Amino acid sequence: MKIKVNDNVKILSGKDRNKTGKVLHVVAAKNPRTKTKVVVEGLNLRYKHIRPKNEREKGQRIMFPYPLDISNVALVCPKCGKAARVGYQIIANQVANAKKKTVKQRLCKKCQSVI
Ligand SMILES: [Zn+2]
Repeated sequence: MKIKVNDNVKILSGKDRNKTGKVLHVVAAKNPRTKTKVVVEGLNLRYKHIRPKNEREKGQRIMFPYPLDISNVALVCPKCGKAARVGYQIIANQVANAKKKTVKQRLCKKCQSVI
């Protein structure tokens, strides 16, 4: 997965295009027909309508961030501050007794720094 929770992302489509925000959740695709989605803090807000449960309660509309397709967001590089494509670098694991011999690192394709 190229995007993780707490990453800063830029939204590329929809009404919040060009805004950036923090990823709260990554919702993995359950089957090939659905896409992986991300929930970005404070962006792509929609109303959720809540019906009253009893006579004393009122119905409510609650704003909440709606999941966006992962293809509609781009990771913002913390080093260069640009919406960057992500590459990977495989490096040998230096940690002793680690089960994995190699570690995958994310790289910003613009400034080549590890994210
Ligand atoms: Zn960068």
